[in-house]
Amino acid sequence: MKIVLTVNEARLAVRDARQQGKTIGFVPTMGALHEGHMSLVRAAKAGCDFVVASIFVNPTQFGPNEDLAKYPRTFEADRQKLEAEHVDLVFAPTVDEMYPQGAVTFVTAEGITDRLDGRSRPGHFRGVTTVVAKLFHIVEPDLAFFGQKDAAQAAIVRRMARDLMFPIEIVVAPIVREADGLALSSRNAYLSPAERTQATALSRALREAQSRYRSGEIDSTRLISAAQEVFASEPAVRVDYIEVVDPETLEPVAKATSGTLLAVAAFVGSTRLIDNVLLGA
Ligand code: AMP
Repeated sequence: MKIVLTVNEARLAVRDARQQGKTIGFVPTMGALHEGHMSLVRAAKAGCDFVVASIFVNPTQFGPNEDLAKYPRTFEADRQKLEAEHVDLVFAPTVDEMYPQGAVTFVTAEGITDRLDGRSRPGHFRGVTTVVAKLFHIVEPDLAFFGQKDAAQAAIVRRMARDLMFPIEIVVAPIVREADGLALSSRNAYLSPAERTQATALSRALREAQSRYRSGEIDSTRLISAAQEVFASEPAVRVDYIEVVDPETLEPVAKATSGTLLAVAAFVGSTRLIDNVLLGA
């Protein structure tokens, strides 16, 4: 497994693999790797000849009062996990490498980026689309792997890749969860033992709404109420949003159909967690 820190080295390593006729799979991450990330790596290994993982805590997707400074950075442990899966190339650039002095060019997707997390975290998705576009230009993968955990991000990246004509297939892999339902997240490391227990409210709320949908409830307001009832029994958890939306446009829908996205965000203490489910799936 080769580790490179610069854009030029990354380009050279990928081009070398491509010259050998290999297909390129790409898994962008912010590090602090867990089994959710590793499921993407394994999917990439299964579908591509040469797998690139990036580790970059992207400052432009953090708001001024968010957790950029304290975001977990665990490079050595990450390196070992990627090595164990036989990843071919790790790209771990510095902030200056990705945003050279004087960089003023950003990629923005309009409308869709103002919904769900985009509404709660203004500018967040501008940072995401900008860094993902840069990474796509550097790595030029055939396939890029994202997690359904960040459902809005997956929809926005898919749209950006289409709009900007990146010849890249976007693959979205299912959410990996702890045994009690909590979706794996690098931010789970912030939770105290009590908060860790409270945090299961997110997946319990989604399960409740999913079960109502399966019993025939399609009214979005009532599905949201079902989720809210679960949160009501966990007052320490503060809901940011619960929404029933079209999974591609992220626009709210009044009636759910199979594949409609039910997404939640909630604060457990000062930690903001997100989770979602595709109804009927
Ligand atoms: P991050 O390092 O948080 O930026 O995440 C990198 C990628 O891993 C993103 O595409 C996430 O959607 C994905 N990911 C994060 N958590 C999970 C999870 N629990 N299950 C599946 N994919 C995940």
